[in-house]
Amino acid sequence: MSRLGSGSLVIATHNTGKLKEISALLDPYGVKCISAGSLGLPEPAETGTTFAENALIKARASAEASGMAALADDSGLSVDALGGRPGVYTADWAERQWFEGEAGRDWFMAMGKVEGLLQAQGPDASRACAFHCVLALAWPDGEHAVYEGTAPGSLVWPPRGELGFGYDPVFVPEGREQTFAEIDLAEKHAISHRADAFAKLVADQFG
Ligand code: IMP
Repeated sequence: MSRLGSGSLVIATHNTGKLKEISALLDPYGVKCISAGSLGLPEPAETGTTFAENALIKARASAEASGMAALADDSGLSVDALGGRPGVYTADWAERQWFEGEAGRDWFMAMGKVEGLLQAQGPDASRACAFHCVLALAWPDGEHAVYEGTAPGSLVWPPRGELGFGYDPVFVPEGREQTFAEIDLAEKHAISHRADAFAKLVADQFG
């Protein structure tokens, strides 16, 4: 289904970094992005058990409240030996009670928690994992589309590199030796789970 022409699109995020990144990706297609935050739209609770469910919850809430098409993303890290955890709880594993928001999250603690669980399984535990990104588009009439992107890789310890964010310092993408935090941003954007999901959205909506 291809309904995203040029025009305005609500980005279901209150995160200005995400808005900037998504706006830049959609600008060449004549799409003007407006953040849900700037429209004063509420942020729904992410009660889904999959990335797709959470992305759809956010996109639908913004589409219904604004009467416009809306785009949301949900992403995280799934570790094979941990049965896919932290998965939809990726950001929550970095939560400390006295911090608020993405900037205050404790990523070193979160990476250490993943590593501790892997080491508890012994030296032969698989270190395979993948970053996932799901983009959901929703329209006020209930129509929707979902695009899933992945970046397979493996976990290293200790963390390496200063670039990127979140779990980047322990993630080595398949076929590489550097972590996402050692690879410059333009290169990361070419191979990331977010790039994969966006390529699918663009091919479907504008191809
Ligand atoms: P959300 O999509 O805003 O719910 O965030 C999911 C979490 O997944 C983020 O807070 C990051 O910790 C993690 N994550 C998602 N994408 C990446 C990435 O490209 N590098 C490192 N961590 C990521």
